[in-house]
Amino acid sequence: LPEYAFIGRSNVGKSSLINMLTSRKSLAKTSGRPGKTQLINHFLINKNWHLVDLPGYGYARVSKSAKKVFQKFITQYFALREQLVTAFVLVDIRHKPQPIDLEFMQWLGENGLPFSIIFTKADKLKPKAIVNYVQDYKTILLETWEEMPNYFITSSSKDIGRDDVLEYIDQLNRNMELEKN
Ligand code: GDP
Repeated sequence: LPEYAFIGRSNVGKSSLINMLTSRKSLAKTSGRPGKTQLINHFLINKNWHLVDLPGYGYARVSKSAKKVFQKFITQYFALREQLVTAFVLVDIRHKPQPIDLEFMQWLGENGLPFSIIFTKADKLKPKAIVNYVQDYKTILLETWEEMPNYFITSSSKDIGRDDVLEYIDQLNRNMELEKN
């Protein structure tokens, strides 16, 4: 089944976003033994795609060796990634573009891995500030990218952007079905 991976810095709002996306959906957690914290969790959504919850990168408070372990898991995931359709890189809309996020997107690009950006916590900014923020982000990305990657603006606390993300995923799934037939 097609997979969509969600990744970002810790505290970016990934768990909240995943909760928002998976509520009211037919959902089954397919990996992760009870009582064990898994680094990578898979959720089966609507019986036709997997949501992959990747560990957060750039933990401020963990040791260098712990960071390496996380990085190893992340790179291993992307190295195998047979079913991966797209990664969603989460970015907190309150923070200026962070080198670690930009470097990660760069790394995805260099490895031919398609991704979209999800700007989280949009409820924290006024609409005009969101427009300016996205414009600034674009300017920075366009220094290294030919075009602005696909992006979404979300808020898990205000239930914003849920349908945009889910419809995008459904559309990609439908396109792949058509290509198969
Ligand atoms: P994770 O570490 O990336 O999984 O982040 P969490 O989902 O645990 O969220 C980190 C913090 O941000 C928590 O205090 C959440 O309540 C808060 N948060 C997450 N999403 C939103 C959002 O859309 N709006 C606001 N205002 N706060 C959020």
